[in-house]
Order: sequence, then structure tokens, then C-alpha cells
Amino acid sequence: MSGDDQAAAPSAAAPRRADGGDLGAWRGVWVFVELERGRVHPVSWELLGEGRKLADHLGVPLSGVVMGPDDPATAQACAEAFRHGADAVHVVRDAVLAHYRTDPYTRALTELVERNKPEILLLGATTLGRDLAGAVATTLRTGLTADCTELRIDDETRSLAATRPTFGGTLLCTIHTLEYRPQMATVRPRVMAMPKRDPQRTGRLVEERVALAEDDVITKILSYIPDADADKAQLAYADVVVAGGRGLGKPENFRLVRELAELLGGDYGGSRPVAQAGWVSADRQIGQTGKTIRPKLYIAAGISGAIQHRVGVEGSDVIVAINSDPNAPIMDFATYAVIGDALQILPALTEALRERLGRRVAA
Ligand SMILES: Cc1cc2nc3c(=O)[nH]c(=O)nc-3n(C[C@H](O)[C@H](O)[C@H](O)COP(=O)(O)OP(=O)(O)OC[C@H]3O[C@@H](n4cnc5c(N)ncnc54)[C@H](O)[C@@H]3O)c2cc1C
Repeated sequence: MSGDDQAAAPSAAAPRRADGGDLGAWRGVWVFVELERGRVHPVSWELLGEGRKLADHLGVPLSGVVMGPDDPATAQACAEAFRHGADAVHVVRDAVLAHYRTDPYTRALTELVERNKPEILLLGATTLGRDLAGAVATTLRTGLTADCTELRIDDETRSLAATRPTFGGTLLCTIHTLEYRPQMATVRPRVMAMPKRDPQRTGRLVEERVALAEDDVITKILSYIPDADADKAQLAYADVVVAGGRGLGKPENFRLVRELAELLGGDYGGSRPVAQAGWVSADRQIGQTGKTIRPKLYIAAGISGAIQHRVGVEGSDVIVAINSDPNAPIMDFATYAVIGDALQILPALTEALRERLGRRVAA
């Protein structure tokens, strides 16, 4: 198993079966609710939706874990966790947890897991989640399957079957952590569907205490420089996405993609080769090693639809492929195919829509 597949694997030199071998002592599905600077990352709700299915299948409770200062945002995150499907929420309110730092978050989450013994622990594969998941799995000496695309319960072993791409995305492998607990997995934003929010739903709030002292934390936050794009619509969460690939021929032609996206009030992205060539910024790459998207409408122009691209877009409601090759792989999963030259079709489509919508878009 490659290091990419498992961020942390139990050491062969010092094997430690979960709870001295008693796997039955570990019960319940937990989702780490990622709260940062007063905002919960939506991947947390997606994971609660997926966790709900796993917990129902196992016949165990679903819990969220919320960590933050004792403020309204932390309280709101707990309430929202119930509304997105949690039966219980374990909350640690401590000023030391006001901003994410690996050390205190790892200590708090590790202690909560050891105290409550959930059999499954899910985190978002965000920058924060990847960091925390690796640190917690290493500390607990359990298995972690990163960037899963599917989670289900194996009825024979009652274990988590965590599926992820491997060998460059050409194969899918399913990983089970049979002898260690908790079974940990991370999932990227938008891979799982957003569950329906029930505003009336509530649950059991468990106030947890962890002995944290600021003096014990060697990492200090001196200042915070916000991401200039932080408040912009995020590509992964856009309702309409238009993307271009190598079939557009040259970087200047990417303007056609941006214009159509703007007219439709959506966002734009590209395939890996065009991101690598700098036609779009790296954070706009769509696919297995880029962003996963689930828009209502995805328009792919000059993109072949290789498997590594497909896995990032197949959750879209409607996929329109514009491609000169009727046998391109994208035709296997596109809802509508427009066969022809994207350099002619994109401007024609933009013009027709512009007339229809009666709007002008600055070129
Ligand atoms: C480990 C690994 C990870 C990867 N991760 C990603 C990823 O995250 N995202 C990703 O996209 N790829 C990824 N790839 C690369 C992937 O395998 C493909 O190589 C890539 O998606 C192809 O990009 P493309 O469709 O833009 O280019 P091409 O494969 O070159 O396809 C261009 C398409 O444009 C069509 N075309 C040509 N001219 C025109 C025209 N004038 N009008 C209309 N259509 C035209 C062609 O028929 C063709 O279908 C990864 C590969 C590996 C090995």
C-alpha cells in the first residue's frame, strides 16, 4: 500500500490492537466538523450526510465533533450539525482552539476518540482536515484512507470499506482497517452529496473537557492574512461550471470559456494539461488531482474526458460536452454532446445566450 493510500499505518514493530483487541468496544460514526474563523466548511455537512447512511447501516449513532472558542459560532456549528443529521455533538469549547493549530487540535481530538471510542472517524480532505487526520491517525496508530470516493459498510466484517483511486486513477482500490480502531477516512469537498437540512432537528449535546494550556502550544498565530479569494464563489460549489481543455488549442482561446461562464453566472476551470501549461491557475484544475465539482450544469469544451477528469465531474446534474471527436471518452458520460469545433461553438453559444438573457458581458 503506498504512502498516498494510507497517511498513517500501524507500526509493525509495535502492533496495538484496538482496545487490547476488543473491537466491539468501539461503536458509533463520528464526523469532524471543520470550524475555522467562525465558518463551517460545507464538506462537514456532506460527511454528516454520508455518515448518516453508514450509522444507519450499522445501527449506531452518528456524532459530530465541534471544536472552537466558547462563542456563538461554535454554538451555531453544533446546532447545524444536528440539522444535517447528527444524533449527538461532542463539543470542546476552549480559547486555545480559537484558531487551527495541529498540536492542540490533535490532542483534543485524540483524547475525545480515546474517551468515546467511535468505530469510524471521518474528516474532510481540506488543508486543515488532511493535516489533522494524519496527525490523529499517527497518534492513535490506526489506519487512515485518504481522498475516498466511496464509503460503505462491509457486512461480513462490519468494517468500513473505503474506496479511493490508485495507480494514477486508473484503478479503484477498497481499503479496510480490520484490526485497529477507529477506522479513519478523508473525503474531498463535493465528492459526497449535500444532505437535506432539517431546521427542526436537534440532538444530544455532550460538553467535553480537555486540559489544554496556551503555554503548552509552541505554535503561535502572529497575524492572519486572508485569502483574497476567500469570499468569492468557490469553483467546487458553483452551480454552473464551464471548463476548457487542450482542444482549445492555445491559451488566448480560454477567453471563450471565461465569457460563457460569466454570462451564465458560473465559474470556470480546466483540465490538468491546461492547468499545468498555465492557461488557468492550478486551483482551477478539475479532476482527480484537482477540484471535484457537482454543479447543476457542467460544460466541457475540448476536454477528452479521461478517467482522472471524469471522477471530478460525474456528480454534475447535466454535462454538456463540446468536442470535435464523436468517439471521445467524454461521450460515454455526457448528458448532451455537441460535436464540432469548440472555437466556433463557444462564441456562438455565448452570443445566443446573451441575446436570450438580454445581458451584455464585458469582453
Ligand atoms: C495521476 C494522474 C492524475 C491526473 N489528474 C487529472 C485531473 O485532475 N484532471 C484532469 O483533467 N486530468 C488529469 N490527468 C490527466 C488525464 O489523464 C488526461 O491526460 C487529461 O484530462 C486530458 O486533458 P484534455 O482532455 O484537456 O486533453 P486531451 O486528452 O488532449 O483532449 C483534448 C480533446 O479536445 C478535443 N478537441 C481537439 N480540438 C478540438 C476543437 N477544436 N474543438 C472541440 N474539441 C476539440 C479532442 O477530440 C480531445 O478529445 C491525470 C493524469 C494522471 C496520470
